[in-house]
Amino acid sequence: MPSTCPQSFIDLPKVELHVHMEGSIRPETLLKLAKKNDVSLPADTVEGLREWYVFRDFEHFVEIYVAISNCIKTPEDIELITREFLDGQAAQNVVHSEVTYTACTIKNLRGIPWDEQFDALKRGMKYGLETHGATMGLILDIVRGDSPDIANEVAEWAVSGHGEGVLALGLAGSEARDAARPYIEAFAHAKKHGLPIIPHAGETQGPESIWEALELCDPPRIGHGIRCMDDPALVEELKKRGTVLEVCPTSNVCLTPIASIADHPIQSMIDAGLNVTINSDDPPMFNTTLSDEYHRVSEAFGWDMAMAKQMARNALEWSYLPDDAKLLVSSRLN
Ligand SMILES: [Zn+2]
Repeated sequence: MPSTCPQSFIDLPKVELHVHMEGSIRPETLLKLAKKNDVSLPADTVEGLREWYVFRDFEHFVEIYVAISNCIKTPEDIELITREFLDGQAAQNVVHSEVTYTACTIKNLRGIPWDEQFDALKRGMKYGLETHGATMGLILDIVRGDSPDIANEVAEWAVSGHGEGVLALGLAGSEARDAARPYIEAFAHAKKHGLPIIPHAGETQGPESIWEALELCDPPRIGHGIRCMDDPALVEELKKRGTVLEVCPTSNVCLTPIASIADHPIQSMIDAGLNVTINSDDPPMFNTTLSDEYHRVSEAFGWDMAMAKQMARNALEWSYLPDDAKLLVSSRLN
């Protein structure tokens, strides 16, 4: 489906704080990787993939996400998807992206050691910087349901890569499946080494999942967090802490009971004084882009371009870009 996004939203310089590398693989590339690596997918056309990406619930989404990850077999595949990701971000003026990447799944499915994955990611990042001036950092996530040993390994990788491209330790997967508590050792390791933890919480589950994340991770940012609106005390706590919420509107329409962008709580969250950013999560899987997200939300809530710019400024401010780079991007948002 051709994008109907107005050029003004594409031209707006943007920073993205919540987007997944494997969930951003272009459908055409996914089909090529599946063929090359002898993986059978339930579709062999882009239209077929689009039909496959109609999710019954979050568990179904995770199942499809793992099937996609299984199409990545070599470090070269990882480099390719990183390059294409940054081509796509640059084409819509996303100047900096903080990207969640699930290294443990790739290692478990395909046996690619972390150092080989990291080298491939760094080659892709170097390409993005040299070709487009687009920067990227990594959030290595633990998947809820994985063993504490795997989580400890991920935390170790994240700590060792901090300063070389890794920005934070993440926590993703199905909130319903398990609590975050089995991973306290991994969180402690990250914290001891000054690495922030950015968990997904309050997406498919209610305020208790956010309270738990606050208690265990003390996160500067939370993926989604939209269900905080069910608990006024939690809203106050998030405001007091200044926690940034990485909101992904179309993803929420696809995976939660929110029926449309107009029904999304993003406007109420902003009105409540929360620190809100706009993100795309897994853009091709939800038939969106970051520019589309800015457009859809602006249209649904009657925002003018000044408001859209303010949201872009917020994401820039709450990113891990160094101050001099922030100043440069900021000057383009005046
Ligand atoms: Zn996410």
